[in-house]
Amino acid sequence: RPLIICVAIVFAVAVIGMVTTGVIQNRHIRQKYKYGIVLDAGSSHTSVYVYQWPAEKENNTGMVQQTHVCNVKGKGISSYAGSPDAAGSALGECMEEARSKVPTERQKETPVYLGATAGMRLLRMENQSASDQVLASVENFLKVTPLSYQGACIITGQEEGAYGWITVNYLGDNFRKAQRTMGALDLGGASTQITFVSGVEAQSPQDFIHFRLYGNEYHVYTHSFLCYGKDQALRLALSHRLRALPETTNSTLLDHCFHTGYRKQKDLSDVYDSPCVSKQGTPTGTFIHQGAGNWSLCHQHVQGLFNFSQCAKRSCSFNGVFQPPLQGTFGAFSAFFFVMNFLNLTSGSLDDAKQRLTSYCSTPWEKIQKDHPKVKEKYLSEYCFSGTYILTLLEDGYNFTSDTWKEIKFIKKIGDSDAGWTLGYMLNMTNMIPAEAPDRPPLPHS
Ligand code: AMP
Repeated sequence: RPLIICVAIVFAVAVIGMVTTGVIQNRHIRQKYKYGIVLDAGSSHTSVYVYQWPAEKENNTGMVQQTHVCNVKGKGISSYAGSPDAAGSALGECMEEARSKVPTERQKETPVYLGATAGMRLLRMENQSASDQVLASVENFLKVTPLSYQGACIITGQEEGAYGWITVNYLGDNFRKAQRTMGALDLGGASTQITFVSGVEAQSPQDFIHFRLYGNEYHVYTHSFLCYGKDQALRLALSHRLRALPETTNSTLLDHCFHTGYRKQKDLSDVYDSPCVSKQGTPTGTFIHQGAGNWSLCHQHVQGLFNFSQCAKRSCSFNGVFQPPLQGTFGAFSAFFFVMNFLNLTSGSLDDAKQRLTSYCSTPWEKIQKDHPKVKEKYLSEYCFSGTYILTLLEDGYNFTSDTWKEIKFIKKIGDSDAGWTLGYMLNMTNMIPAEAPDRPPLPHS
């Protein structure tokens, strides 16, 4: 097994931070900033984030900022299961770019963390040795850069949710000011997370995390749904419809979540090659995916991906998962933002959103393509499905209503920094959020 230094996550423990930073601070007193790099190894892509903060103000909130992001060419690291050696070198260009943003004299003390999310959780479930090899490959590549490599690991869904929540509240300066916090809604390709402060007693303790930050206590509910990211949800939807078709090759799947006029031959393996989709044997061959855009039929079909009927707890989101009543405002980021922003649905009511999506889904594919010549065809063809999936997940899944819809802010960035789990992860790993508020203001720096 490769040596993967996966630091066990101890949330919000900020005891050693002050000791180590004091030493480094004095040694580099003339240098203004410190830096950290986090790789978000998502299911569909990897992004490299560079953060910086004033060297003498580590424990002051709101100080860490994203200065650069580089999107690695190609797919996510889990797609290298068949050729793991290439996973590491694929990071080369972006790591070089990220390194160039860090002054040479700071590089060897700049921590680099890689966190892999649901794409790798799925690969590990399917093929642990392939997943280990991919992690070893990225580790071997990152180890030899002049930066201070700290480890590559698959983070849990709970961590992903919690770090996203830390990020948005850190950037909003809510911790230090002891203001109301904002919930976090994250949608990736393979999983989705919901995280918010709740006053309700823990019904299932595994869904709650306790934080003490800047002297305040936070009782945070978080749940991650593996397989309910938008790419896996689409596979699930296609597999449900394919079940109803004759097993002859090239049978036509009429799909109300795709535009009329859309017609493509696809491989059955593109649907079934995932532990999220149940299958008998390994289906091979092709089918014809044909659009028949109709929002209300698409909506009904998407509702069928969730189980709303079982709930042994006091209240549930879906699939029998406990969720306390929603509380406060929410930042919805990642694919929630990409999709809703494309569809122009980041403001307005839930009813508006449904109406506009109804009209969008019934627009012929030819017109959609003509209107958006620069948008990647795969994204473009899927926005009707993705928008419908998002509305269904938020309304029927997480229980937002026409009333509480306005509490959701679709966001990409807060200030210069992207909303996502990476900043919260780095803050935690570097002990940059203290559990206790400083008793007195820091001494002025001369
Ligand atoms: P992940 O790679 O797991 O972080 O997931 C990111 C998700 O966002 C994937 O489902 C991507 O397909 C999706 N995504 C990224 N950029 C866009 C975009 N411009 N429009 C629509 N979806 C996007």
